[in-house]
Amino acid sequence: MQVSYIQVAIPVPMRQLFTYIVPLTISDDEIQIGARVIVPFSHREVIGIIISTSEVCDIDDKKLKAIIGLVNDNFSFPPALLKFLLRCADYYHHPVGDVLQLALPVLLRQIEQPTIDLATTWHCFVLEQDSKEKLILEKIVKRAPKQAELYNVIKTHPGLTWAEIRTLGYTKPQLNTLEKKKLIEEKQQKAETFVYHQEALAENEKLTLTVEQAVIVSAVKASFDQFSCHLVDGVTGSGKTEVYLQAMEKTLAANKQVLVLVPEIGLTPQMLSRFEQRFHLPICLHHSGLNDKERLQTWLAAQRGTAAIIIGTRSAVFTPLHHLGLIIVDEEHDGSFKQQDSFRYHARDIAILRAGQLNIPIVLGSATPSLETLQNALSGKYQYHQLTKRPGQSTQAKISLINIAQQQMEHGLSGTLKKAIETTLKRGEQALIFLNRRGYAPAINCQECHWVADCQRCNKPYTLHQGKKLLICHHCSSQKRIPYQCPSCGSVRIKPMGQGTEQLEERIGELFADYSTVRIDRDSTRKKGELAKLLQEVSDKKHQLLIGTQMLAKGHHFPDVTLVAVLDVDGALFSFDFRAAEHMAQLLVQVAGRAGRESKPGKVLVQTNFPEHPLLQDLVNNGYPHFAKYALTERKQALLPPFSYQALFRAEANYPSYPEKFLSALTEFTFDGCQFAGPVPAAMEKKAGKYRYHLIVQAKSRKQLHLAIYQLINAIPQNEWQKKVRWTVDVDPLDL
Ligand code: ADP
Ligand code: ZN
Ligand code: ZN
Repeated sequence: MQVSYIQVAIPVPMRQLFTYIVPLTISDDEIQIGARVIVPFSHREVIGIIISTSEVCDIDDKKLKAIIGLVNDNFSFPPALLKFLLRCADYYHHPVGDVLQLALPVLLRQIEQPTIDLATTWHCFVLEQDSKEKLILEKIVKRAPKQAELYNVIKTHPGLTWAEIRTLGYTKPQLNTLEKKKLIEEKQQKAETFVYHQEALAENEKLTLTVEQAVIVSAVKASFDQFSCHLVDGVTGSGKTEVYLQAMEKTLAANKQVLVLVPEIGLTPQMLSRFEQRFHLPICLHHSGLNDKERLQTWLAAQRGTAAIIIGTRSAVFTPLHHLGLIIVDEEHDGSFKQQDSFRYHARDIAILRAGQLNIPIVLGSATPSLETLQNALSGKYQYHQLTKRPGQSTQAKISLINIAQQQMEHGLSGTLKKAIETTLKRGEQALIFLNRRGYAPAINCQECHWVADCQRCNKPYTLHQGKKLLICHHCSSQKRIPYQCPSCGSVRIKPMGQGTEQLEERIGELFADYSTVRIDRDSTRKKGELAKLLQEVSDKKHQLLIGTQMLAKGHHFPDVTLVAVLDVDGALFSFDFRAAEHMAQLLVQVAGRAGRESKPGKVLVQTNFPEHPLLQDLVNNGYPHFAKYALTERKQALLPPFSYQALFRAEANYPSYPEKFLSALTEFTFDGCQFAGPVPAAMEKKAGKYRYHLIVQAKSRKQLHLAIYQLINAIPQNEWQKKVRWTVDVDPLDL
């Protein structure tokens, strides 16, 4: 057959493919589905992806353009990945060109072809008995423990790349010294697919599974070559990671790859080191700490099958895989799996979709499963496994409430809490104080006329950052100098209002002057390596008081912290967002899992004005699983997700009336089994100068929802306000 036309996906915000003519100079077999192609597009040349080909076309040839050329470097989307991405574009009703673009490494999005060399990897020299190097090594072991540690890591795991070594916490000078001393050498990675071998599994590291763990491992292994979704529900320390490790064995032994998704880059080092210890097989990383070249190298290693295991954050779900056999999603409830702009996918949800397409098992793990996942597990759609016995030494801190309605407060601390902190510090233990508000104060105002410094673009108060001596808007990032005088009445009595972590740090430092305080939030850890440094100082017990935001709730374990204080949870109890209580409960349980050890159990104190609130009571008295079931009954009664399905249309414009009118016009349609809620102003009605409105479409079934979205989007070209607004659609929205 003579291919004459190709349909191409182009990274533009249009929900369509574009047809181009293939010139006769290009032969059929050069045209490959999934390959990159250079095409003219409105006076530019862009990279597109070939989606389909045809011999005939019902568009007049005169209106079509010819392709400029093919990119013949063999880095095309493999058929299975392309099928997956097209399905994702479909599910999220997102422009296909944009989806494909996102899945492509940056270096492959450019017309100039990148020079693609394989990663270089590190190996140890074999050392002769009594050699000079052997003596040097002995010296290093005595004098430079970190270098010796790195040497051992490379020795037990030959073939590590610099990106991996860095992620494991070693520095370039440490690596260079070992190289200079002729202990290690750099080699070009081989482009071979990995093969499981006898030494691949470190048998001695394997733990004897508990009965509960063993049941899960065999269930996953049993569905080794068919789709099945498993929820592993167990608190921190209950042995989930050990389950992942043993469930992977069979997959790897069959020379199939494993994809592991973690919510945050901060969690990759601990996963990487656990996995390296167990498997002596090539592991690749994918996260935002890699540069473009390193990302491309991971992409290629995964596609060629050089990598056996890929560990990555959200977008790693799009990695091409030579022969994928198992997917693991750790901390599946974590909100960071959902992309919150442009292509708003949920990595966990599409990972399940990918596993389904490939007919392979997928394992979701969490101490606090999302209600969506839990419902699927309870209804039998997923296999539900609970780890109730704790094999490890960690303990779960107990959560208690402090009623602050009748207490005298000092800098946000109740008397009860202050006393608890004192007792903890006197015992030589550490305390962690949570406040989910960065900066010094959430606002500044004039003491005379009550003027508040608002960001004009968002109509919200500026946050005071005392350290930087700036007002910063946390919604649009605009900055402003702190005014000396009130612009409204001229008074110089301008004062901070409320309290953020920066101020809390200052006050706590005064209140507990005999102890050292450290603050860990996005501002204090902006510098590369700073977070690791501060965490190290905490574990070295240089600080007794830790102040932090939500950032501290994830992953890190603090064995000497025996008291965790949460200053304010009330916002979550009375939120317009029906998921706020779920998120609060997840946060509290995560925090509780971070503290203490068996010999020193921790406790969590939560300050609230509403200690009688039924959801709080349930969580505190009966634990997360009970709370979650109760919250599910509430959702069922209110017909909210997961008992209904939602999509959110967002619209924004420079005038408030346009987005509202645009969305109102959508509500004139009716669909079977669907209803509209809104349009309503967004929680942040004005942001960065734009007025924002929301419209929710809620349906009884997914099918009805998708049909409605499809028809609504099709009708938008006829909407008279469409040119005046910017709109997006968010399927299964998380933040309303
Ligand atoms: P999670 O991933 O749920 O936090 P881990 O798998 O990291 O749990 O296990 C927590 C601790 O318990 C680790 O120190 C691990 O070595 C230990 N552990 C896990 N499973 C077992 C087991 N079957 N026997 C003994 N120790 C175990
Ligand atoms: Zn004033
Ligand atoms: Zn702003």
